[in-house]
Amino acid sequence: MGVLALQGAFAAHQQRFADIGVDARPVRTIDGLAEVDALVIPGGESTTMSHLMRTNALFEPIADRIANGMAVFGTCAGMIMCASDVLDGRPDQRSFGALDLTVRRNGYGRQLASFEVDLDVKGLDSPFHAVFIRAPLAERLGPDVDVLAEHDGVPVLVRHGACTVASFHPELTPDGRLHQQFVDSIR
Ligand code: GLN
Repeated sequence: MGVLALQGAFAAHQQRFADIGVDARPVRTIDGLAEVDALVIPGGESTTMSHLMRTNALFEPIADRIANGMAVFGTCAGMIMCASDVLDGRPDQRSFGALDLTVRRNGYGRQLASFEVDLDVKGLDSPFHAVFIRAPLAERLGPDVDVLAEHDGVPVLVRHGACTVASFHPELTPDGRLHQQFVDSIR
């Protein structure tokens, strides 16, 4: 397992994988990318992450791996990075189009910028406590995208092929079940 470690909440993701007995390495270079079978793109700031991927010559190599079927788990800013269409992004911000999804950056608005809720998640037998921080709002999903959890009627955890994305931060609570689900989805 790799965790993109240019910016943002990558260390917490590594800890969650360690908790479930999965070796997760930080990925900062093309060589590092070549060593992993799957990649987590963490929360942080998607405009900065997009910029750093380009200056570190990682954007195209990651895009190529995704196009060739590498499993990817994008959380919060990582969800924006995986989306096909980004609203309210910076004009120079790029995303991978790993799944057919339109997201709006900071789409939950000012007053609800950060909040926590218990979510019912497909495949889990009890709720998952989800932390949302200036989260992206899913505004349109392609017909083949599988919704794993919703909040107020809006999809917040979805999967399309090898790509899973969450509007929230599953790495910020000690519950490793969504990390386990991602690992199970690629076995
Ligand atoms: N609002 C941030 C962005 O646009 C995402 C916030 C987060 O990852 N917690 O990238």
